[in-house]
Amino acid sequence: ASEILLYCRAGFEADLAAEITTKAAQLGSNGYPIATANSGFVRYVLADNQPAHTLQKQLAFETLVFPRQTLVAFPPLAHLDCEDRISPVMALIRDSGWSFERICQEIPDTNDGKALTGLGKSIQKALESASRKCGALRRKAGKRWLHLFWTAGDQVQVAISFPGNRSEYSNGIRHLRFPHDAPSRSTLKLEEAWHTFIEPAQWDEVLGDNMWAADLGAAPGGWTWQLVKRGMNIYAIDNGPMQASLMNTGQVEHLREDAYSWQPPHVLDWLVCDMVDQPARVTRLMSTWLEKGWTRRAIFNLKLPMKQRWHEVEQCLELLHQSVERSGQRAHVRCRHLYHDREEVTVYVVIV
Ligand code: SAM
Repeated sequence: ASEILLYCRAGFEADLAAEITTKAAQLGSNGYPIATANSGFVRYVLADNQPAHTLQKQLAFETLVFPRQTLVAFPPLAHLDCEDRISPVMALIRDSGWSFERICQEIPDTNDGKALTGLGKSIQKALESASRKCGALRRKAGKRWLHLFWTAGDQVQVAISFPGNRSEYSNGIRHLRFPHDAPSRSTLKLEEAWHTFIEPAQWDEVLGDNMWAADLGAAPGGWTWQLVKRGMNIYAIDNGPMQASLMNTGQVEHLREDAYSWQPPHVLDWLVCDMVDQPARVTRLMSTWLEKGWTRRAIFNLKLPMKQRWHEVEQCLELLHQSVERSGQRAHVRCRHLYHDREEVTVYVVIV
């Protein structure tokens, strides 16, 4: 396998390609991206048949921003015979010598992709049985999974994922149920961020009862709603109105102030921020809070209406690192384009 296959939100292929090309080059790797606009995926092809395995491992999934999934891939199979899509796939699997514990049928997150959903399902059983027969599918195979990524009825890319360096979700998407009493759909962004950045075992300690939080740009209260559900007390900063039932919990103090000048009356456990503003401006505000020690943890969104989104994200993260360093602290920073994010990414910072 000499490629890496990466999934993303449709429309973010160029950003993903820029990120991977930059990071691969920093790792001394020699390759090029193949990306089609609005396709929902990018291939990164290594030059001179270098094995993609090593590079995919070095590109630790948790450090990546735009990919929803990263896989070690074989070149795509095209012009499959509609009567027999399985044989070429089986031949490839057998030749590869790899074995795996699961077969995942996947598609790009596009309308064209959705139309292909039934295809994978229809061959799953036959493929599993043929793979079991030749020893490729087994109970214990280093937790490796095989992925079949369908890009057309007669076109599939076969790829492998490795434990600890992949999204565990089908198509790299974590679906969440919209809580019916939440004031806005944005609520899912904060919930997904917590699932993504905070280990389940840590939730009680990190998202505990009676903590204090600030929500900058809080209205109508989707993010505040999540904080309330965790039993926190919240300063909700926004000129706009907050949902009434949220205010009735008694856990929320709504202040009609400017987030850029408001200061918390005491040290807080959490800062969250979902304001529509220039990414650099939001990053500077977050940096100020961390430098001054007003909070140890922050989750914020950077809105990315511009063309060169990767470049913007890279600059903001650099700014954040520099300012934390300047204040003599150390931070753990993660940044991801979440499924529920649209033209934006979500950043998590904790001072360690
Ligand atoms: N996270 C919210 C939710 O889940 O319901 C949605 C936030 S909305 C995308 C952005 C909010 O930021 C708007 O309500 C706007 O009034 C507020 N905002 C923008 N600039 C602000 C500022 N300088 N100070 C306070 N709020 C601001």
